[in-house]
Amino acid sequence: MNLLQAQALCKTYGTGETAVQALKDVSFSVPKGEFVAVVGESGSGKSTLLNLLGGLDTPTSGKVLLDGRDLFAMKERERTIFRRRNIGFVFQAFNLIPELTVEQNILFPVLLDYQKPDMAYLEELLDVLDLRKRRSHLPGQLSGGQQQRVAIGRALITRPALILADEPTGNLDTRNSGEVIALLKEASRKYAQTIVMITHSRSIAQTADRVLQVSDGVLTDFGRCAE
Ligand code: ADP
Ligand code: MG
Repeated sequence: MNLLQAQALCKTYGTGETAVQALKDVSFSVPKGEFVAVVGESGSGKSTLLNLLGGLDTPTSGKVLLDGRDLFAMKERERTIFRRRNIGFVFQAFNLIPELTVEQNILFPVLLDYQKPDMAYLEELLDVLDLRKRRSHLPGQLSGGQQQRVAIGRALITRPALILADEPTGNLDTRNSGEVIALLKEASRKYAQTIVMITHSRSIAQTADRVLQVSDGVLTDFGRCAE
């Protein structure tokens, strides 16, 4: 079953002479549990695509279906709640809240949704992310790799069906990058989560189940990689 479907997505920024066609008729589907890498040059439309898949921005035309639900047929408020419950985001900039501890940052999306936190799952994530000893630290007291692990914990805590990551290792060195990717893949395998990840790294893309390339707003699906 396809967890995610993009149907004829187009996105144009601006109007008239300054209009930029950032995405041109992009369609593809992702089965549940697949790990998809999105590659392409800077300015090719990768972030635009990811933001549309996550309902963070609206397409000029076209549809995004997540678990069969049409994201842009929802009212904005409904979409916000749906997003919070079903999609986890990891960005290049970790976007942690500096005044909150590691534990509070991870729990933040759950608290924002007025849900009761699953404390056993929090403990599990702190272990998997190797953050147990840092749980009461503030982001400013952590290394880049640790901060990105907190951001991953925050993306996973709601057990989202879909994880969208925009160059999550862009600010990390090689060793930390490897760890972050391994964690995301482990999570997707363990919790049957689907991942769509933008990456500049050829070696990371090679480990994905499927590679999509965006080139000047046009998507090419390279399909499943050979094992
Ligand atoms: P990538 O993530 O592949 O580097 P982006 O999706 O960020 O590419 O950008 C694709 C194109 O759309 C670029 O030409 C960029 O300048 C343009 N663009 C992106 N965001 C905006 C925006 N908010 N307003 C106007 N143009 C934008
Ligand atoms: Mg980008």
